[in-house]
Amino acid sequence: MKFNNIDFDTYFKSYPDKNGYFGKYGGAYISEDLRLAMKEITAAYYTICKSSKFIAELRKIRREFQGRPTPISYLERLSTSIGNVQLYVKREDLNHTGAHKLNHCMGEALLAKYMGKKKVIAETGAGQHGVALATAAAYFGLECDIYMGSVDIRKQAPNVARMKILGANVIEVTEGLQTLKEAVDAAFLAYSREYKDAIYCIGSVLGPHPFPMMVRDFQSVVGIEARAQFLEMTGELPDAIVACVGGGSNAMGFFSGFLNDPVTIYGVEPLGRGRNMGDHAASLNYGEEGIMHGFNSLMLKDENGDPAPVYSVASGLDYPSSGPEHAFLHDIGRVTYDVINDDETIDAFYTLSRMEGIIPAIESAHAVAYGIKLAHEMEHGSVLINLSGRGDKDMDYVIERYGIR
Ligand SMILES: *Cc1c(COP(=O)(O)O)cnc(C)c1O
Repeated sequence: MKFNNIDFDTYFKSYPDKNGYFGKYGGAYISEDLRLAMKEITAAYYTICKSSKFIAELRKIRREFQGRPTPISYLERLSTSIGNVQLYVKREDLNHTGAHKLNHCMGEALLAKYMGKKKVIAETGAGQHGVALATAAAYFGLECDIYMGSVDIRKQAPNVARMKILGANVIEVTEGLQTLKEAVDAAFLAYSREYKDAIYCIGSVLGPHPFPMMVRDFQSVVGIEARAQFLEMTGELPDAIVACVGGGSNAMGFFSGFLNDPVTIYGVEPLGRGRNMGDHAASLNYGEEGIMHGFNSLMLKDENGDPAPVYSVASGLDYPSSGPEHAFLHDIGRVTYDVINDDETIDAFYTLSRMEGIIPAIESAHAVAYGIKLAHEMEHGSVLINLSGRGDKDMDYVIERYGIR
């Protein structure tokens, strides 16, 4: 299928190019030390990802450890209450550890093992990526260093406990604002010192090449499964698909299964409290081109051109940029990026819980809210929503801040 002069029949052979670019976005803007490390990972990944041994081992892990394939559920009560549009969800909440993040962490840790590394290194904000990576490290018997700001360590006690139970070292970062940005800097610094024995594992389709490509490839299992399952269930493709976009990994994996199909694709960004700078994290809707954390993409900038402060009720979505491939798909118009605010999200959180018996992560509730909106606007057809994770981690917070509705 051709779209805006881009040939989607051969898309995955052409994007990214050999330097990691999706159009003008992507690349690797890093120090000389890290350049060597990235070269090593890129060469290893291009070789190993074609090896039948690696592919077979990853498939076995998906099936026997992660519990894949995750199902698609038809939302019968919700669809009927809205009208004639049929809503479905892809159940990444049922993936082991309760979200999609384990899909790329298992791939990254398996790559580490094939490269003969002893340790995995990462940063974490809310702790979701740290927990997924600690899980993967325990499975493979790798050491695991997770860098986390002091403020986040205090706020996210249950995830800190999970990481420690799984055997990870949680390393406190006391610089600056003591949150995600400083943790990223500390993790990169540690990696540039330890790259001979360690591999850095990024938490989304972000960072320097090859990470946006690698994480997309590891997450593509979501889209491949969903497309086959939906065809099997209904005999057709969905008319529209929807996913929430923070860094963009669950969306990119899900979308990649449908890019070459006549399916309308929506990415949903968090509008938080509103359109003013500092009140949202909708970088694809309101950002400009810029470089941060080693890659070129659309980002929200402050008056000095630095990454702007961002906000969302969903801590997994509050990042001032998104993956370069999303910026590219945005510019060519293949994916429509739109927004959902905090209030609409909390409504959808309760609606899905009450009408279907599925408590979604607040991140995923953004996609659910958008799917419901679409269902009200469309006259007929089907919408498939990626339910990126379960909401157990968010229940106390929702009750405390919004009460039982
Ligand atoms: C981390 C997280 C996200 C956001 O990350 P992406 O890379 O944009 O997918 C979304 N949903 C859940 C449940 C998460 O844990």
